[in-house]
Amino acid sequence: MKHKIALITGSTSGIGLGIAEAFAAKGYNIIFNGLEENGSEIARKVAGQHQVDFLFSGANMLQPEALREMVAQGTEKFGSIDVLINNAGIQHVAAIEDFPEEKWNAIIGINLTAAFHLTKAVWPNMKAQKFGRIINIASAHGLFASEFKSAYVAAKHGIVGFTKTAALEGAPYNITANAICPGYVKTPLVEKQIADQAKAHNLPENEVVKKVILAKQAVKDFVPVSTIAELALFLASENATTLTGAALPVDGGWSAQ
Ligand code: NAD
Repeated sequence: MKHKIALITGSTSGIGLGIAEAFAAKGYNIIFNGLEENGSEIARKVAGQHQVDFLFSGANMLQPEALREMVAQGTEKFGSIDVLINNAGIQHVAAIEDFPEEKWNAIIGINLTAAFHLTKAVWPNMKAQKFGRIINIASAHGLFASEFKSAYVAAKHGIVGFTKTAALEGAPYNITANAICPGYVKTPLVEKQIADQAKAHNLPENEVVKKVILAKQAVKDFVPVSTIAELALFLASENATTLTGAALPVDGGWSAQ
């Protein structure tokens, strides 16, 4: 079998790393990306464990030229990019009246606009080869709001809208686009929120997890990274051609209420 190629942004931490491990285990060659200082070692280790080829790029999601360069490097090395997973993201929690403008711009830039630049860059090749899979890691906050997360909720709703448009434009070329909308996943991004909320509510961390963080989920457990990774693998498969334009909740029943 020809190894398929997956470019996964923010794949040297958290959900992206879990997705990269799952794709490597299925024989995908991986283009890793992230800002972690030891990113290239992480990439080498995962690729080595699964005996696949890889590329690491530290391209910053806020620099469109660097994103185009990452796609160009990947295409030159592997010939094509079959799966693009827009996963890199950041969070900032503050009331609208106190929300720093530079945080707003960074969240919209990293969580939304970078996905546009990358989709645009991989598109011509996917179109030409009549196969492409765009998977956007949105959030339950792509479907619902929470207070104090204005930029994040705006960016995640935005990426759900962008996903739908890409699905319509990609359909004639067997390019699908879907958004995965996780509830809470225990990654560095959320560990920081647990610590902050524990302080704000004056509760021990285990209580803050059940009473505050997971309050909106019916299932009072974090969503495992492996659940998201397996869904992404299915969305990337040849068999998923008619599953497109969807925003799929993996949220412990948050969206059932
Ligand atoms: P994480 O902090 O563990 O990982 C984020 C990754 O994005 C890191 O590799 C980081 O280096 C990279 N990144 C951040 N800014 C970047 C930039 N400017 N340029 C390049 N890379 C950058 O976070 P995570 O929880 O794994 O989050 C991954 C995605 O999942 C995000 O889009 C997040 O919004 C989404 N998500 C997370 C949760 C959760 O509960 N953890 C829930 C729903 C959605």
